[in-house]
Amino acid sequence: MPKPKKEKLLADHTSLKIGGPVFCWTEPKDIDELLDSVSIARSRKKSILIIGRGCNILAPDNGFDGVVIKLGPGFDYIEREGSEIVKLGAGSSIQDLVARASQWGLGGCEFLAGIPGSAGGAIFMNAGIREKEIKDIILEVEALDMEEGSVMSLKRQEIYFGYRSSGLDGMCILGARIKLNKDKNSAVEKRIEDFIKRREWMRGLGLPSAGSVFKNPNDKNPAGRLIEACDLKGWRIGGAEISNAHANFIVNKGGASSKDVLGLIDLARKSVKEKFGIDLELEIKII
Ligand SMILES: Cc1cc2nc3c(=O)[nH]c(=O)nc-3n(C[C@H](O)[C@H](O)[C@H](O)COP(=O)(O)OP(=O)(O)OC[C@H]3O[C@@H](n4cnc5c(N)ncnc54)[C@H](O)[C@@H]3O)c2cc1C
Repeated sequence: MPKPKKEKLLADHTSLKIGGPVFCWTEPKDIDELLDSVSIARSRKKSILIIGRGCNILAPDNGFDGVVIKLGPGFDYIEREGSEIVKLGAGSSIQDLVARASQWGLGGCEFLAGIPGSAGGAIFMNAGIREKEIKDIILEVEALDMEEGSVMSLKRQEIYFGYRSSGLDGMCILGARIKLNKDKNSAVEKRIEDFIKRREWMRGLGLPSAGSVFKNPNDKNPAGRLIEACDLKGWRIGGAEISNAHANFIVNKGGASSKDVLGLIDLARKSVKEKFGIDLELEIKII
């Protein structure tokens, strides 16, 4: 039985550094403890929040009155299975995957370089860049159906991956098998460097954020450009600010509340709708 940890603040587990206390915090180390965490929630009629590294989450100031599950050590593994197949636990870091694949001389996941978060979060969000998403390298995903309490293995074709979505709601992703390609280490390293270079502007953020706030409506109208065209760069509410480095990022200048961020989200949405007639859809998950 996992030891429930109380008085945890979501602010300490989200990249935006925002969020209040949780009713119950668990870090199951294996599938049995995970099932226990799910049944604690069910027996107390509490909602469940699966959290990875919290890099795409806006958590409420008054906290979460439910059970938070952060996968523990038994889900943190990256193993080679055959020459081009890699098995990874949902709790492992995407950046560790990029580094490990490069050491093994395996290409195909370089596009993930610089994207923070866990494998579980990346799969749930179908993380990626314009040209490539994590779905493109997935063979199958192992997940726990939290309603049924059953573990299943889903082939990529059975998962409804979309733009920053996977349709895996209600599931706790446990791990995945991905297919990479044998290549020269130097070639893999070079591509990683190139992808990292493309992200150099992010250094200008310099402050906590949760990545892109909105999905891009289409390639011609990236959300950041639309928000910038509404003159909202640098706009501030309380401790939150629409970043001067990229208008689709909201940064925490210090002491920002979830209400401050929601205020900026509302402002950006209304302004873009008024000026361009476009409805911005959220990429970040609001808890
Ligand atoms: C500076 C910065 C840059 C970023 N750049 C990019 C980018 O270029 N491309 C991109 O796609 N994203 C980007 N992001 C967003 C973020 O890094 C990704 O969405 C990442 O995959 C989230 O992983 P996480 O572990 O932090 O997930 P979390 O933020 O913890 O969770 C995100 C969602 O996934 C769910 N979830 C997490 N783990 C599991 C699991 N095991 N089972 C089921 N559901 C789960 C959560 O419930 C939540 O709904 C960026 C974020 C930051 C802060």
